[in-house]
Amino acid sequence: MADLFETIVSLSKRRGFIFQSSEIYGGLAAAYDYGPLGVELKRRVRDRWWKAMVYSHDNIEGLDASILMHPTVWKASGHVDAFNDPMIDDKASKKRYRADQLIEGHIARLEKKKKTEEATRVRAAMVDALNTEKAPKALYDLIMAEEIKSPDSGAFDWTDVRQFNLMFETQLGALADGDNTIYLRPETAQGIFVNFHNVRETARLQVPFGIAQIGKAFRNEIVARQFIFRMREFEQMEMQYFIKPGEQMEAYEAWSEKRLDWHLSNGIRSSKLRWHQHEKLAHYADAAQDIQFEFPFGWNEIEGIHSRTDFDLSAHQEYAGKKMEYFDPQTQERYIPYVVETSVGLDRTILMVLCDAYREEEVEGETRNVLKFHPDLAPYTTAIFPLVKKEGMPEKAHAIEADLRNQFNVYYDEKGAVGRRYRRQDEIGTPFCVTVDGQTMEDNSVTVRDRDTMAQDRIPAENVRSYIQDRVNAWTPES
Ligand code: ATP
Repeated sequence: MADLFETIVSLSKRRGFIFQSSEIYGGLAAAYDYGPLGVELKRRVRDRWWKAMVYSHDNIEGLDASILMHPTVWKASGHVDAFNDPMIDDKASKKRYRADQLIEGHIARLEKKKKTEEATRVRAAMVDALNTEKAPKALYDLIMAEEIKSPDSGAFDWTDVRQFNLMFETQLGALADGDNTIYLRPETAQGIFVNFHNVRETARLQVPFGIAQIGKAFRNEIVARQFIFRMREFEQMEMQYFIKPGEQMEAYEAWSEKRLDWHLSNGIRSSKLRWHQHEKLAHYADAAQDIQFEFPFGWNEIEGIHSRTDFDLSAHQEYAGKKMEYFDPQTQERYIPYVVETSVGLDRTILMVLCDAYREEEVEGETRNVLKFHPDLAPYTTAIFPLVKKEGMPEKAHAIEADLRNQFNVYYDEKGAVGRRYRRQDEIGTPFCVTVDGQTMEDNSVTVRDRDTMAQDRIPAENVRSYIQDRVNAWTPES
């Protein structure tokens, strides 16, 4: 399956979805740039999230907080003291691994070999280790006891497990002394918490209500692998839902269901999605689970749903010395609201969409590479081709193109055999290709070819726009 992933990565680059950052300088690890098709795909995913979260709820409002924040925010949130990953180095290869992921890999191998009892035992030991005060030592001891070897070198020659903080530091102003240290935000959530009263008052919201935000986050990930799955600069789409204490489980269940539905509504196959309960609850959470997707390199987190209690607002009340309470006008009660958070990576969603959509199909003895995106996510909704570059066909095709551009992003192509043009569009996931041919010049009909079935319909040229819109609306994924 690793080959499949490499194929997707290379297609992403070759067709202009995603490039390595600063490639002409040899690249910067775990930083990526979105090309012409990638930026379209990203914009569409972002818009669908915003529509589903903000426009579809009368009690959710948007926010765009700054990336740089007062440094005490990160003291209050616990990130300065506790945003660490336990890391271990293979002395032979000098490669660094996250200790818990190394153990997870070992558990996955045991499960594959049907050693279920052993896997359960190791998992329980890992959960215990993660939850002890001295987690690094406990994780190290478990790696030793299980004799877990380095996945790359096969060596069993490890350093101690050490904690590394993931926040990027920078200096405010011209002087680079310790007092000026600030951080690039490692999550967008805190921008929402510190604006709790600002948004609530200006938007005249009453609990329960939500604040949604899409923006960049930065983590100095020690092990950054797997393309855009784990980046050092990435984008999050987060929503914090403020509720009355005691009502968090109901909200947690409801948002969990809604968020899974959102992924399904983007055309992700349900067989590729599953829930994963957290082994170790973060210091702020009383319940947490992740939606996982089956990437070519295994099941991995795509979104977290976290019941964050009143941890964040209480911490800001303490550190900022400002009341973070809410006064409920109905019950006349005063309380610090509880929070249920939904947090999904935009880039990880893009990777999921690409992996889920990619197919290789045998067609008449040839391999067809096709991205079966939800048509609403496809960078181009439609392509338009004159069959030949003469007999008035290009002019006619341009006229249809102009009409379609009122509604869709359109690709015009008049070069090469039409079969090749179809294949080029298949590879970038364009769901519909409209062809102007000899018959068009006689009766004003065109063919519309479907990416998924390759079937062609002949329809009047004046109906193309509504026909495509209807097909976009009716689309359902293959199971
Ligand atoms: P992981 O366990 O994979 O490091 P996390 O549990 O730290 O993720 P959260 O803090 O819950 O992740 O962040 C919410 C979401 O943000 C994740 O589900 C993921 O989609 C995205 N995300 C987190 N870290 C990265 C990263 N380094 N690169 C890309 N996306 C990320």
